[in-house]
Amino acid sequence: MRYNINAMYFSDKLHEECGVFGIFGHPEASRLTYLGLYALQHRGQESAGICTSDGNKHCHHVGMGLVADIFNMDTLDRLTGDMAIGHVRYSTAGSSIITNAQPICVNSKIGPLALAHNGNLVNTDELKAKLVQEGAIFSGTTDSEVMVHLMARSRKETLPEIVIDALSQVKGAYSILVMSKDTMIAVRDPMGFRPFCIGQVNDAWVLASETCAFDMVGGKYFHDLNPGEMVIIPKNGEIQSIQAFPPAKKLQQCIFELVYFARPDSLVYSQSVMQFRKAIGHQLAIEHPAKADVVISIPDSANCHAIGFAEQSGIPYDMGLIRNHYIGRTFIEPRQSIRDFGVKLKHNAVSSVLNGKRVVVVDDSVVRGTTSRKLMKMIRAAGAREIHLRIASPPYTDPCYYGVDTPDPSKLIAANMTVEQIREYIGVDSIGYISIEGMLSCVGTHSHKFCTSCFTGKYPEEALPNCETCKTCSSK
Ligand code: AMP
Repeated sequence: MRYNINAMYFSDKLHEECGVFGIFGHPEASRLTYLGLYALQHRGQESAGICTSDGNKHCHHVGMGLVADIFNMDTLDRLTGDMAIGHVRYSTAGSSIITNAQPICVNSKIGPLALAHNGNLVNTDELKAKLVQEGAIFSGTTDSEVMVHLMARSRKETLPEIVIDALSQVKGAYSILVMSKDTMIAVRDPMGFRPFCIGQVNDAWVLASETCAFDMVGGKYFHDLNPGEMVIIPKNGEIQSIQAFPPAKKLQQCIFELVYFARPDSLVYSQSVMQFRKAIGHQLAIEHPAKADVVISIPDSANCHAIGFAEQSGIPYDMGLIRNHYIGRTFIEPRQSIRDFGVKLKHNAVSSVLNGKRVVVVDDSVVRGTTSRKLMKMIRAAGAREIHLRIASPPYTDPCYYGVDTPDPSKLIAANMTVEQIREYIGVDSIGYISIEGMLSCVGTHSHKFCTSCFTGKYPEEALPNCETCKTCSSK
């Protein structure tokens, strides 16, 4: 019941998952950005773009679809200059339009300005209403465009001051790259919701959402940006780091990045995603053991968690499902009918692994339950005698307002059913979700730095969604 009122929020708001990449001081900036985005493709498959600067002017190219389909040699050649920022984007239904593709590139009083944003602001409505009242015109529907307007209207003189002035008005999650004709700026919000790391390729500076993008371009990872940190890289001068905003007392790094979203070969929040997922698999096997013959994963996102479960339980790991890699993530399809079909397109069961077996199936998360339900049927049809579903995250009960796409809350299965009802609906012999404490134990001594609101419904006070509806549900 508590979610009915919330549906309004979800029908017309964007909840974006994105990836950003920037490079400063490299003769092949556009090509390296292309490669960086290619490595970050899992963070968004709906649109992508690159904006470059040669010190005087910006060139940009954005398109709908996958990085490899949007760019070719010609487009990359036209993107001249030794600085570039890029973006991959994924959003929910209704917002799949080219005007929402990033980087956003505009001309402002300080010359060309480009912005690439990962995260989600929570006070967009209020800011947008004020800006529109003052005569601002918006071409898209993203919260990122609000930031650009705030920058363009700032009375401050220098780019760092302008960016700080704009960001001091926003609330929520942002890891952003801003580029003028001769300066690049990177900022991570004071709560550190989304990851952001810095490194180098030869003498060029690189910034990215995940370190797998550095590996792709032969770069070296240095460290994560601190929450509230601003890195300024000017054309003529030394790189500078300032604490633009004090870090929040209680940081809010998204735990779901580690659980599901990031690539396992990345370091996120300076931590190996692979090791975290294996540790979670171990913990899951301790909390919810099962008598079984084989452990399988829902590939690819739960592979590492399943390996961890197998290691801890001593039950052999095998590949009981095979994933077709030549289609996008089914969750991403905006229309329900296509998504359902997508499950069949995406996975097939291996009966030689499953037939007659008691099977532990490990999944990273259950959101709507649609995928699991269909896959369990497939596993049974392949001959599994028993299915024990183990989920490497706690019940996903509440929407994320900070940049992870969440369906309409009425569709979140754990918000509407008990664990036993979920077991029955999905059609398994037993089900076990990892506990919140168990999940957090896998990040060691840093557990107090994480946002777990999608599992608890407890949102940080400083970033409560800015609508009466959501304040109500947040304070439950
Ligand atoms: P479902 O329960 O049918 O909604 O699908 C859940 C599966 O989708 C999980 O096992 C994840 O692998 C994947 N998933 C979870 N959260 C997201 C998300 N925000 N975006 C895309 N895929 C997701």
